[in-house]
Amino acid sequence: MVKYVYDFSEGDKSMKDLLGGKGANLAEMTKLGLPVPPGFTISTEACRAYLREGAVPESLETEVTTALRRVEDQMGRQLGDASDPLLVSVRSGAKFSMPGMMETVLNIGLNDVSVNGLATVSGSERFAWDSYRRLIQMFGKTVLDIDGDLFLNAIDDLKAARGVTADTELTAEDMRELVDIFKGIVKDATGKDFPQDAREQMDLATEAVFRSWNTERARIYRRRERIPHDLGTAVNVCTMVFGNMGEDSGTGVCFTRDPSTGHSGVYGDYLTNAQGEDVVAGIRNTLPLSALGEQNKAVYDELRAIMRKLETHYRDLCDIEFTVERGKLWMLQTRVGKRTAAAAFRVAIQLVDEKLITRDEALSRVTGDQLTQLMFPQFDASAEKELVAKGMAASPGAAVGKIVFDNAQAEAAAAAGVKCVLVRRETNPDDLPGMVVAEGVLTARGGKTSHAAVVARGMGKTCVCGAEALNIDAEAGTVTIGERVLTAADTIAIDGQTGEIFIGEVAVTDSPVTTYLSHGLEAGLAAAGENEGTQELIRAVDQLLSHADKVRRLRVRANADTPEDSRRAIEFGAEGIGLCRTEHMFLGARRPIVERLILSEEGSPERAAAFVELETLQKQDFLEMLEVMDGKAMTVRLIDPPLHEFLPSLSELEVRIAVARATGKAVDPADEEMLVTVRRMHEQNPMLGLRGVRLGIYLPGLFALQMRALCEAAADLVAQGKAPHPEIMVPLVGSIRELQLIREEGEAIIAAVAADKGVDLSGVTIGAMIELPRAAMTAEDLATEADFFSFGTNDLTQTVWGFSRDDVESVFFPRYIESGIFGVSPFESIDVHGVGTVVAEGVRRARSTKPDIKLGVCGEHGGDPLSIHFFHEVGLDYVSCSPFRVPVARLEAGRAAVGLSE
Ligand code: ADP
Ligand code: MG
Ligand code: MG
Repeated sequence: MVKYVYDFSEGDKSMKDLLGGKGANLAEMTKLGLPVPPGFTISTEACRAYLREGAVPESLETEVTTALRRVEDQMGRQLGDASDPLLVSVRSGAKFSMPGMMETVLNIGLNDVSVNGLATVSGSERFAWDSYRRLIQMFGKTVLDIDGDLFLNAIDDLKAARGVTADTELTAEDMRELVDIFKGIVKDATGKDFPQDAREQMDLATEAVFRSWNTERARIYRRRERIPHDLGTAVNVCTMVFGNMGEDSGTGVCFTRDPSTGHSGVYGDYLTNAQGEDVVAGIRNTLPLSALGEQNKAVYDELRAIMRKLETHYRDLCDIEFTVERGKLWMLQTRVGKRTAAAAFRVAIQLVDEKLITRDEALSRVTGDQLTQLMFPQFDASAEKELVAKGMAASPGAAVGKIVFDNAQAEAAAAAGVKCVLVRRETNPDDLPGMVVAEGVLTARGGKTSHAAVVARGMGKTCVCGAEALNIDAEAGTVTIGERVLTAADTIAIDGQTGEIFIGEVAVTDSPVTTYLSHGLEAGLAAAGENEGTQELIRAVDQLLSHADKVRRLRVRANADTPEDSRRAIEFGAEGIGLCRTEHMFLGARRPIVERLILSEEGSPERAAAFVELETLQKQDFLEMLEVMDGKAMTVRLIDPPLHEFLPSLSELEVRIAVARATGKAVDPADEEMLVTVRRMHEQNPMLGLRGVRLGIYLPGLFALQMRALCEAAADLVAQGKAPHPEIMVPLVGSIRELQLIREEGEAIIAAVAADKGVDLSGVTIGAMIELPRAAMTAEDLATEADFFSFGTNDLTQTVWGFSRDDVESVFFPRYIESGIFGVSPFESIDVHGVGTVVAEGVRRARSTKPDIKLGVCGEHGGDPLSIHFFHEVGLDYVSCSPFRVPVARLEAGRAAVGLSE
């Protein structure tokens, strides 16, 4: 039989899946011998059973009875007893904290009779009736779904009638009256009396917590935070202790160290004569924790000792809820405290400095996502800003610009060199051109998985979405926020990290962390200026990143196509180039040469001439890149895209010719000739057409010119005493024969250039890009013809799923994410289950015939934290990602090597 109920003395902090975070930590504190009020936890499994069956399993009811009796015996009181009632709280607590999602009901066990018992035992009529009215209020709102305002209005009405302003000024008699009024509200709203049976109150509250897991609010929150919907929540039943029993009672929250700096000290708030929610609700002004030291030194010292004990035990910053009942301290909650990205780095290094945790552990406590947050440009903290609204922080960065409402305005602004922010109620694929040219995107509707959010993140563009306070009238060209009306004449600033929206120009500064990453510790510290906190942050990032570099097995390369990008990549710590694309080298001024090449016939002198011209230019490209990458590997991918991408578009040509005909002008014969070629080369599915190695074989001489240019460049540099390490990568290989043909050609070229220049080029290697399922599934064969493989996980994702990124991403991905088909786009984070299996299989097969083959991955997954951990696990040698992501990849590769704590 399944066990559904765990006494606090039965669990521990490792049992979050079953007991939820709150329950697991209450159990851990109980195990540590800390003063936790007795209680028990009803497991997430019980919640799942309830949601599945629509009813509480019968065995749960009997288990609860046993657990409750144990608590009653321990306390020497019984739930709802007439003369000395035991009261409990029913508290929700899922594995991941879901703030504000599901609420807690306090004071369960009070009824018309036991309230008198409580009054007698506590010696306070007012306290007893105040507790009772709180129960009806919380129970009514949370369990019975009654509009909470009805209760609040009743309190306000009574205060007005009594001519008082604070709740505390209401008398025992007033509280008694409120109880009557509240019972009336319950009866009116539900048609039933407020339940008098204590056990029934407890059971109803438990079920309400279970049900609240599936409320719309909870679902939206989980979708946003990527928390699975099938976890369920646990319920904690905990003996009530009272902070509102007089001046020697109170309640508070505290941190074991400053959550924003990591420095040791006493941080917390305390409220005398108050119950839990009063602190959080901010109804009364709280005192600093030290005030407790003045009121009751013994309790304060005990709390400090417990804080220290908890920190030693969890070996991290903890946050704590406690209550003092008539001079006795009770611990109500603890957890490893939440923190900002900057604080995470600083706290980790503080703990290392205090020799509380190892460097490995410190590394596991910071994440690549946190480092990314620290790298984005920021609004100047000292700048004056006028905050007008807040939306959801959907894609980080800081964007400032004139308001534009549509593509046309955005493109006009961009053309005029004016920075702009695209402001729309929501976006759809038609808005793409505007999003591309805008500095940032701001929407009034939609969450973190809306079209705007998904696409902006994909483009690395700042985005704030779902700013509901904005009333956007694109036709009228106005944005109304409360009283203010903004137009295209106004400048707006959006912060993609906080969701804040400001009016007017706000200065943007480079992040000092980025300065450190690209120019070293000295420069970073200089950029931090006088700010000690920032200096400490830079040192912390430096120490953790250095440690990651020391422990990681995965090498980190960058994807870079130009000398500038390559330099930037090296600054960020790249150890080589994992993907140098060559197609851009055929664009711009070189386009006419490529056109001539395509239009000419195979073997013709025109084609030979075009080849020679391109080869000369291409050699220069490679010379520059190889020089920057001196001593480091540089993987050059032979040209990959379909050739028609270099020709004018079909529709453009057709229109031009049709217009000429219709207006009686002469049609340009060159246009007509081009049209024939473009029509011939037109493809229905270019992604699956004549591209990659297919092109190299279809158009003899094309790959050869690239390989010769690369070898010549390398040979020239070797002759100058430099150390170029070019690697030739053949794209889109599916069959071993394809690879053999290109390899034979390549080897002949390497040998010829080496002989011609009299240098050793034996270090030039030839490998394949694995981006088709067939390549992965026959990798043991391909490996015999390859010195290395690089998994092109972008194309591999497209070919494994059978969709083209450009066609699907902005069209139906938002819907797919909303419906839970993807947790996250498979282009953002590798689809471990599907595409990942193909990669793993490719690795296994390749190593089965060539154990020492070098294996890497190129494509944006190489910079994605989750994907990096996967690549570490399947045993790749390196990842390659965009230069900006290199530091993140270094950090995550280090974290993968030390293993994750939690
Ligand atoms: P949350 O998840 O919002 O922190 P909690 O379950 O911790 O919710 O409860 C809300 C408030 O009620 C907290 O301030 C907590 O300290 C207080 N509380 C909960 N259980 C008890 C109890 N048994 N005795 C006294 N106060 C309690
Ligand atoms: Mg709490
Ligand atoms: Mg590809």
